[in-house]
Amino acid sequence: MTEPFVHTSYASRVVFGPGTLQQVAAEVELLGVRRALLIATGSAQQAADETQVALKELFAGRIDGVRQHVPTEVAEAARAKAREVNADGVVAIGGGSAIGLAKAIALTADVQILAVPTTYAGSEMTPVWGETSGGSKTTGTDLRVLPKTVVYDPTLTLQLPLHTTAASVANALAHCVEAVWTEKANPITETTAVEAARALSKGLRTTLANPTDIDARSNLLFGACLAGSALASAGTGVHHKLCHLLGGTYNLPHAETHAAVLPQVARVKAVEVPQAKARLEEALQTHDLATGLFDLFAAANVPTSLQALGLTREQAKEAADRFPGDVEEILTRAWAGTRPEGATR
Ligand code: NAD
Repeated sequence: MTEPFVHTSYASRVVFGPGTLQQVAAEVELLGVRRALLIATGSAQQAADETQVALKELFAGRIDGVRQHVPTEVAEAARAKAREVNADGVVAIGGGSAIGLAKAIALTADVQILAVPTTYAGSEMTPVWGETSGGSKTTGTDLRVLPKTVVYDPTLTLQLPLHTTAASVANALAHCVEAVWTEKANPITETTAVEAARALSKGLRTTLANPTDIDARSNLLFGACLAGSALASAGTGVHHKLCHLLGGTYNLPHAETHAAVLPQVARVKAVEVPQAKARLEEALQTHDLATGLFDLFAAANVPTSLQALGLTREQAKEAADRFPGDVEEILTRAWAGTRPEGATR
């Protein structure tokens, strides 16, 4: 029997498939945007050049410099640019950092976002924004920042380096795994998360062997889309909150931080939701969720310790003290990169 539940979904238009970058201009027009500000990550310059030409008179301006965790000074400069060109829309091509910058603009100005994600971070499907100031990251939820249209073109991800690919998949898997134990977790988010995990693990295994396999890259992007929508509806829990604290305070790389922390959080949290744990294990083809994740990331050469990301033991202790909740064991193990055998609860 399905237990009673409450689920909130977030509406956006999704256009998915190889070559869909060419539909961006038509999609911008469909949104009713008259003056589009283009934001492009370093790797997406060619895609941005093509889009700029295709937008014709709808093109209003362009920002090429994006930085991780949306530093306030970068957000302020982008807002000023949006005002200067009188933008009523933002087209963001890139990973979570480019889309995060578009969200920072939408938070204070009346603009619609069209996102073209080129990593698996999933931000494009969520109404969650983040901004970092003075070593502290603030996040919030606001419907104004939810992209109205998302164009997923897997051809844009063919050159994503394997290391970045695997770390970004770890970020997406973190959305799936945490989506089964948050307060807002429900049968819809759980099923979405399980299918996302299946597509991500299948896509990753093939991509590691053949990085330019378009079917595998499509699986990864589809998994990222599902994982992002699971995150949007289920919200965040201890894992994401801890990663935001670490990323914002110590400027750690976002996706890699997820990879180091997730297996350790899964070790203690997943046993609280045995049925969902079993479904995820089946989807990931592993007998134990925590060690399965750890081994998957290790096999993909993603660092499985915070130490390898440059965090000192003292900083790990400091973060555990600052976190509202007992995460000392999780952080000790994540810092050292201990294989997460044996759940404690
Ligand atoms: P990123 O956007 O910083 O990209 C990582 C690197 O990969 C960059 O150097 C980028 O230029 C490069 N890159 C991106 N796409 C590429 C491609 N197709 N080919 C080659 N290189 C490419 O990193 P990210 O992990 O995508 O995003 C991290 C940020 O997103 C963090 O700030 C995080 O907080 C945020 N985020 C937000 C949400 C949300 O819901 N708000 C969800 C996930 C992540």
